[in-house]
Amino acid sequence: MTLDPVRPIDPADLPAWPQHDHTEREALERVLAHGQWWRAAGTENDDFEREFAAYNGAPYALAVTNGTVALELALRLHGIGPGDEVVVPAFTFISTSLAVQNVGATPVPADVDPETYCLTPEAVRAVLTPATRAVIPVHIAGHLADMPALAALAAERDLVVIQDAAHAQGGVWQGTKVGEFPSVACYSFQNGKLMTAGEGGALTLPDEKTYEQAYLMHTCGRPRGDTTYQHVTGGSNSRVSEFTAALLRAQLARLAEHTRIREERATLLDGLLKDAPGLRVQARDLRMDVNPHYMYLVALDPAAGRAARDRLVEELKAAGVPACVNFPPVYRPASFRAGPVPATSVAELAERCPVSEDLGAHGLWIHHRVLLAEPRVVERVAEVVTTLAERVTGAVVAR
Ligand SMILES: *Cc1c(COP(=O)(O)O)cnc(C)c1O
Repeated sequence: MTLDPVRPIDPADLPAWPQHDHTEREALERVLAHGQWWRAAGTENDDFEREFAAYNGAPYALAVTNGTVALELALRLHGIGPGDEVVVPAFTFISTSLAVQNVGATPVPADVDPETYCLTPEAVRAVLTPATRAVIPVHIAGHLADMPALAALAAERDLVVIQDAAHAQGGVWQGTKVGEFPSVACYSFQNGKLMTAGEGGALTLPDEKTYEQAYLMHTCGRPRGDTTYQHVTGGSNSRVSEFTAALLRAQLARLAEHTRIREERATLLDGLLKDAPGLRVQARDLRMDVNPHYMYLVALDPAAGRAARDRLVEELKAAGVPACVNFPPVYRPASFRAGPVPATSVAELAERCPVSEDLGAHGLWIHHRVLLAEPRVVERVAEVVTTLAERVTGAVVAR
């Protein structure tokens, strides 16, 4: 059955991503003119870290090359390595589990909440073993995991908490900013993320001692100002250039206003899609004060099947809505089996993680630049999504 075309979204109505203006240009020219392009000789990294820490309510921040490396550094900071188990949500981008494997530890996937799609304390509790050392909640699509509840479980079982906040710079839960929780949080500034320098990452850190250790480890163990090759800790080089830091300062200056607009548009879109037949959208826990909205997550009724979802993504793209299939459960791609893995089989993991299986097979995400568009464009997007979802489910079910 071929579907009648819907009136597509005019590409000119969707804001470009990434966004930039004269402030990014001035930032790059400032570094160029300064003549010293690495952090040891400049001030952009230090300034960015101070500004980013403040934005997220953290006492300290450290800029690093990307979000994956940020997670690896956070794990190494806590001495996590071979023989240790780290609980990760099954529904996340692969870096959450890959980082665990890259430090030699074993990721243990646990399922997410069927409403918010975030890791729950109950799911973590169900997979704890004597080898569990840490848990990495992911603030999926900008929605914070229930950090107070996870922290309470972590305290009870003596576990380290590391936040994967790649989607959640600026998130606030019951008055607490993401960097204000007493745990290390890891952020990404890859091209699609909410602020970007093409690539980039950061950690926020809860105390000076952890920050100082992270600083050393991100620069081959060299103390600040070292000119005599003192290497006082292990580590690697995950420093970013002054160009990256300067760009990120310009991007950060735009984030609060972007977040305000995305919050408004997401509320609008939620309302418009709430009663769409056969569609589900990520719910919002009312304890969330600010959701920066990295992805807008939509899922079809499981009865429609994976083929309907795949078809819907293609139809949405053809109609000018930037859409993509959801992350598969982390244990499904081949790369998962390239590192240390739990003894549990993929079939057993799938049985343990029905929500992540469902979201991976039936869910999709819409790019956050849609949430920066004018309300009338968001209304048109809702119309296109609703119409195509109905048709695609109908078409597949009718086969
Ligand atoms: C993007 C992302 C990362 C990794 O960040 P990179 O900067 O791409 O390395 C980690 N976790 C999640 C949830 C992400 O979406």
